[in-house]
Amino acid sequence: MAKILVIADIKQGVLKGSTAELLSKARAMGAETAVVAVGSNIESLAPDLAAAGSDTQFIADDPSLEQFSAGPYASCIVDAAKQFEATLIWFGFSESGKAAAPRVAAQLNAACATEITDATLEGDEIQVIRPAIAGKVIQRIKVNTEQLVAVVRAGAFEATEGITGTENVVKLTAPAADLKAVIKEIISDASGEIDLADADIVISVGRGAKDQAGVDLVKELANDMKAGFGSSRAMVDGGFMAHNKQVGQTGKIVAPTLYMAFGISGAIQHLAGMNGSKVILAVNKDPEAPIFNVADYGIVGDLFEVVPVLREEIKKVRS
Ligand SMILES: Cc1cc2nc3c(=O)[nH]c(=O)nc-3n(C[C@H](O)[C@H](O)[C@H](O)COP(=O)(O)OP(=O)(O)OC[C@H]3O[C@@H](n4cnc5c(N)ncnc54)[C@H](O)[C@@H]3O)c2cc1C
Repeated sequence: MAKILVIADIKQGVLKGSTAELLSKARAMGAETAVVAVGSNIESLAPDLAAAGSDTQFIADDPSLEQFSAGPYASCIVDAAKQFEATLIWFGFSESGKAAAPRVAAQLNAACATEITDATLEGDEIQVIRPAIAGKVIQRIKVNTEQLVAVVRAGAFEATEGITGTENVVKLTAPAADLKAVIKEIISDASGEIDLADADIVISVGRGAKDQAGVDLVKELANDMKAGFGSSRAMVDGGFMAHNKQVGQTGKIVAPTLYMAFGISGAIQHLAGMNGSKVILAVNKDPEAPIFNVADYGIVGDLFEVVPVLREEIKKVRS
């Protein structure tokens, strides 16, 4: 039986939904599942890790692991992968996952694939699917190693309701400090805004908003809807939005429940960052705009007229 080890995605002591998504997929493939959690004060998460669908929980809990550092984190994951004899080692889509995955693969002498959207296991043969060249082509990759380390694209798999695992905790020893890289300080975004990667709703603004007043107008809707607020690259290049708000090939990849695009044409590089969203609504005054090819709902209109109407309607529904 195949064995799939999922790396738990924990943020500020809370287990993120992507862990259950990856474990659900692993169980649907008929694999034996385990999860590895690395951090400080996380032992109490064992029942949540089991409830997410794992049958073994490898836990490395140590004050030295409080801040993410790719070296020590990778050592813990390698330890778990060896003990579990994992065939597939899956990271959710996060900056830390992307930093640790190649280190884990190198130490295990395994293949490493990023941004996969599917994986199959037939006998000993592992294959993965991943979009490439901003989604212009879909690659099917046959893996020539016995193990594969993969970073799974946001939103690629869905959590199945009613799945649970069993609690079977294996404690891991924290590795020696990594003297090659020492995290001195973490400066977090002090804006207090919702992180695009965590947002259930993402509202993005494009060049159609013209200037700061247009950006602020759309941002008010995002605030009303408690949505993450992103943008196309045009608005970043124009100096209206910070680069960490850019959605797309050279920005963030998001897969929220609802993505709303205002005044965005739908260039392939933008689509690469949001076309995994569950429902897409686009507002654009050009009926031929390519964004409508991927939108589930489209409003052909001027965003300066549409946004105030949407805000009014949302207020009515809320009250
Ligand atoms: C290597 C590379 C990487 C890139 N990476 C990214 C990336 O990560 N993310 C990204 O977004 N782009 C990226 N780009 C840029 C991308 O090709 C597009 O140039 C960019 O996405 C366009 O942004 P936009 O849709 O806001 O602007 P435009 O393409 O100018 O579209 C503006 C849209 O607004 C509509 N509009 C105008 N006025 C209104 C109004 N009043 N109401 C409603 N609609 C209106 C117009 O009809 C038009 O469709 C990349 C490009 C390259 C070459």
